[in-house]
Amino acid sequence: MIPIQNTTAPHWSTELAQAIKSPAELMPLLGLSEQTLPPAAQAMTSFKMLVPRPFVARMEYGNANDPLLRQVLADDIEMLPSAGYSKDPLEEGNHNPQKAIVHKYERRILVITTGTCAVNCRYCFRRHFPYGDNQLAQKEWDSVIDYLTQHPEVNEVILSGGDPLMLKDSQLGPHIEKLNALPQLKRLRIHSRLPIVIPNRINHELLEWINNSRLDIILVLHSNHANEIDQAVAEKVALLKQAGVTVLNQGVLLKGVNDSVEAQVDLSERLFSAGILPYYMFTFDPIEGGAHFDLSVSFAQRLMGQVAEKLPGYLMPKLAKEIPGQPAKTVLAPTLSR
Ligand SMILES: *Cc1c(COP(=O)(O)O)cnc(C)c1O
Ligand code: SF4
Repeated sequence: MIPIQNTTAPHWSTELAQAIKSPAELMPLLGLSEQTLPPAAQAMTSFKMLVPRPFVARMEYGNANDPLLRQVLADDIEMLPSAGYSKDPLEEGNHNPQKAIVHKYERRILVITTGTCAVNCRYCFRRHFPYGDNQLAQKEWDSVIDYLTQHPEVNEVILSGGDPLMLKDSQLGPHIEKLNALPQLKRLRIHSRLPIVIPNRINHELLEWINNSRLDIILVLHSNHANEIDQAVAEKVALLKQAGVTVLNQGVLLKGVNDSVEAQVDLSERLFSAGILPYYMFTFDPIEGGAHFDLSVSFAQRLMGQVAEKLPGYLMPKLAKEIPGQPAKTVLAPTLSR
């Protein structure tokens, strides 16, 4: 099938503006009553609720424990004090050589392009990060370019955030042109959840700057459950692949969302059917407010051992953990049953 762009589709910024911002708005769409949902007023003050409607459409009607709903529904349980959980578990504050750059690993840098996202995930390890809502100004992009020229060993730039695809294509295009002009760079990586929650983010304008870039482009999507991947996502991924983009997925292992063999197997199978390869499955970072999603590392390793029995090796995401101070992500071996 040749994917065709639907020119009558709503613009992603319209869909973003129409995103759900409270449980009260969400309940009628899912046929849930107020009594079934937990109190959330305090949690919403600490971290706003934000859920685009295309994502809501993939939730199961009437299911208060829906795995997509659990990821985004504010819950005052987040406000309980939790010993051992931190506001900056990855110690990124220590690796900020200058505004917007996180340089932890030798040959790649992470650029924080914006603090905002199209969806607010309750388990997010960046929920307390002091980004402000501002996007990188042109002058700051120029300082990223300066930083790169001073670090010729860096051959890959990773656009992160927040969500870098929150930037308009009219902003991204010129930024990427500057990266194209640096001979040291081989690859441009984009870490984004936006094409999952609003597939129309993949539009003509985005494909244009992708096509105009000489860099190899890798899009690392973020999804945690098979139900997040629908036909609309698959169609957009097909367009990206036509443009030569390598499309990967990273997820987070979350209690009550994807902590079963079936959920993990279904996710990998669905990703592959949509043209996406599993990359990482992260163990949960001990972020303040997220303790109710946490699972032990040994549970994660046993779970992935059972998943490995059911999937071909190329559909096994690497179970990984970010340990502050380490020169790369730490990959955890699945524990096999015999
Ligand atoms: C996770 C991360 C990367 C990317 O690591 P990969 O293993 O290449 O995916 C790069 N920089 C920082 C700061 C990171 O946290
Ligand atoms: S999209 Fe990513 S960065 Fe944004 S809230 Fe969700 S997990 Fe965090």
